[in-house]
Amino acid sequence: MSYQKLVCELKRFHHLNSALDLLGWDEQVNLPQKSAESRAAQSAALADLIHRESIHPQIGSWLNALEQDSLPPAQRCVVTEARRDYDRAVNIPSEFVARRAKQQSQAYHAWVDARNNDDFVAFAPFLKQQIELAREEAAFFDLNDLQAYDYHIDKNDPGMTATVIGNLFDALKDEVVPLVKQILDSTVKPDLSMFKGFSITKQETFLNRVIQTLGFDFDRGRIDVAVHPFCSGNGADTRLTTRYFADNPLDSLFSAIHETGHGLYEQGLPLEHLGTGLGTAAGMSVHESQSRLWENQVGRSRSFWDYWEPLYREAFPDQLSGVTSEQLYLAINAVSRNPIRVDSDEVTYNLHIILRFELEMRLFSGELNIEDLPVAWNDTAEKILGVRPVNDSEGVLQDVHWATGAFGYFPSYSLGNMLAAQLWYAALDEMPGMESDFSTGDFTRLLNWLREKVHHQGRRYGLMELAKEATGHELSCDALIRYLKERYLPLYQPQAS
Ligand code: ZN
Repeated sequence: MSYQKLVCELKRFHHLNSALDLLGWDEQVNLPQKSAESRAAQSAALADLIHRESIHPQIGSWLNALEQDSLPPAQRCVVTEARRDYDRAVNIPSEFVARRAKQQSQAYHAWVDARNNDDFVAFAPFLKQQIELAREEAAFFDLNDLQAYDYHIDKNDPGMTATVIGNLFDALKDEVVPLVKQILDSTVKPDLSMFKGFSITKQETFLNRVIQTLGFDFDRGRIDVAVHPFCSGNGADTRLTTRYFADNPLDSLFSAIHETGHGLYEQGLPLEHLGTGLGTAAGMSVHESQSRLWENQVGRSRSFWDYWEPLYREAFPDQLSGVTSEQLYLAINAVSRNPIRVDSDEVTYNLHIILRFELEMRLFSGELNIEDLPVAWNDTAEKILGVRPVNDSEGVLQDVHWATGAFGYFPSYSLGNMLAAQLWYAALDEMPGMESDFSTGDFTRLLNWLREKVHHQGRRYGLMELAKEATGHELSCDALIRYLKERYLPLYQPQAS
């Protein structure tokens, strides 16, 4: 009986949380300029209500009782996840939650100003405060400063630690640094001058067709415009966003495909289990593996473009009239040394993540002081990315994450890349010729495979177990390195004339 009661209550929390999500989506997509204060108050009131309900001692009693029972694995997963959420809610005092929300909002606005004014010194005290908050939060679980970083990593990817990530990233760095050099030393250079004056309306029509063809269910989701692309909501109502630039149509398209990958995952989680561990995504890295697999392995493949190129040319005949298929494909897979993470390609992207991970480790261990962070950032960027930011706005101030207290979050982007490549090869092994389906605009075999191996599993497995279960191999950078070499080395190989 306790189990049914617990599930019923978890589903009620899910409905409340999804209403809060929807308010957040609306804030990014529709909110009138002067309504921000009212929205902040609505969101805070609802968040407070959810928090108070979620620490009800009755839930603790149900969990205690259920933990004594021998439950089937599916129910065990629901109880374990509910326990995790309950302990977080109970151990973190409301006073701290309110203070953190307030200080994060202040830090966010300080970051916006600091980035606009290229003024790290003005932002430094806010960043220091965010790290203190992160340590304070870990201390509620009796974790010391050295364990605090692991705590925040675990929030994004249950079971993951800095040591494991460090080993994976060291191996990745050893391979990617020389690979980038090899690609950029090539005499083959992509030409991006074709991307000018792409009609926004036509981009939108094209992109909607792509998303629908990939399998996104528009009867249970939609796509709108926002400054920063994101996916929110859940499988019952999935909200995607992208943005449009007339002179950078690939940004809109690949942002939309990326968010569609997140959306397909949400739509593939079992609807009947929404709100419980069985209907919840496995963690940030697994989520990111889905967005990146569709964006990169699929969206940047030749077979994908075999199908879409004629339609792209039909939509933008003038811009693409003198462009060969090979030139278009190379432009889609352009590699460059860019100091800005969000503008970088999939080969150099991982180096941006390794840089942030290494600095986060040093900040949390106390080895690196906030005041020394900008120089440490620039030195590391020069060393591993091969480009030194000319100022802090394109260096340490470029990302919003730290201003909002999101520590231990960056690694999930590269862990997701590793898992994406590993899933890709596992799918190809099981379904030889799957890639040629794409040439006819058919993506169902891949989607169904992901549904079975990843989406339907909910939170039964953490990142490491899921990699093993779905691909038969431990998570490593091997598949990612293989994929990057197979895709990029032939492309940047000068043709004998
Ligand atoms: Zn993403």
